[in-house]
Amino acid sequence: MAIAFNTDFKPVYGRVDQLSPLIRRVVAKNPNPFTFTGTGVYLVGRGEVAVIDPGPTLDEHLDAVLDALEEGERVSHILVTHTHSDHTAGVAKLVARTGAPTYGFGPHGPVPEHDPLDTVSFDEYFTAEEQEAFEKAWRDTPDELKREGPDTEFVPDVAVTDGDVIDGGVGDGAWTIEVVHTPGHTSNHVCFGLRQERVLFTGDHVMGWATSVISPPDGDLFDYLASLEKLLDRDDVRYWPTHGPAIERPQDYVRSFIAHRRGREAQIVDGLTRGPSTIKDLVPHMYADVDKRLWRAAANSVYSHLLALHREGRVETTNGEGRAEPSLTVTWSLVAGSG
Ligand SMILES: [Zn+2]
Repeated sequence: MAIAFNTDFKPVYGRVDQLSPLIRRVVAKNPNPFTFTGTGVYLVGRGEVAVIDPGPTLDEHLDAVLDALEEGERVSHILVTHTHSDHTAGVAKLVARTGAPTYGFGPHGPVPEHDPLDTVSFDEYFTAEEQEAFEKAWRDTPDELKREGPDTEFVPDVAVTDGDVIDGGVGDGAWTIEVVHTPGHTSNHVCFGLRQERVLFTGDHVMGWATSVISPPDGDLFDYLASLEKLLDRDDVRYWPTHGPAIERPQDYVRSFIAHRRGREAQIVDGLTRGPSTIKDLVPHMYADVDKRLWRAAANSVYSHLLALHREGRVETTNGEGRAEPSLTVTWSLVAGSG
């Protein structure tokens, strides 16, 4: 089952769009390969307004968010889906300008000192010229674009957990938001359900334009799949992700996400039926048709899948000496009889 991506989205940066009776959105001008067309900041309710993910720290963006308020309105809550800087870098400035308390699951999980991906290299597959061009492109890529930047500074004023309810406003402008913990993209990722409209603000958990990046160790594909299944139990009529357009018929969409991930997993299991392999062996085989420059990112994706299979007891890991902790460099093999 193919995923029906929707990339038809052309925001006017800085403009406030009224999306429904209780929802307005301002899109920040920070487009890049992770944010698609930029960070969409939602303002929920009227009178007392909750801001979901303030976005980047650009002053003109934060001005636009505050200009979206009408006479007599104020930001009463700042809600955070997860601690990636394209969502949270602007929090401190917005707090300074509004005094509103912040709500989130908790700070970012531990970040390794060195990028684990540096332990795996596909250099021998590149010609000298390709290698040179690749290294230059990598050097010229700003750090924040090499992977989604974790924000290790953010600590919520109010730590929320699955099932918590946050509300504000009065009369027609009143809103009730339910917290849904959806670890996977990050361990502290939450979605926010707006009860009055039966919609879910999905952050980066489910997006219309692309799949979610799962970067171990904080990103965890096993948890991610469980967090997708969790959404199937809900009766949301629409998702509002942070990047890109709304998702209609969202449960069908989530089912296609799960099928897509299971398909990748089947490819890996298939690769391992030919014998024990390292990630370095699997990637060139699985991604033979794909631009070699993407193999590094592919290694991370294959690693996420292998970690999930490891947690399910379906693969085991060895180094030259015997059993070994999972890493990007160990050898993986199927556990006999695990299917
Ligand atoms: Zn993110």
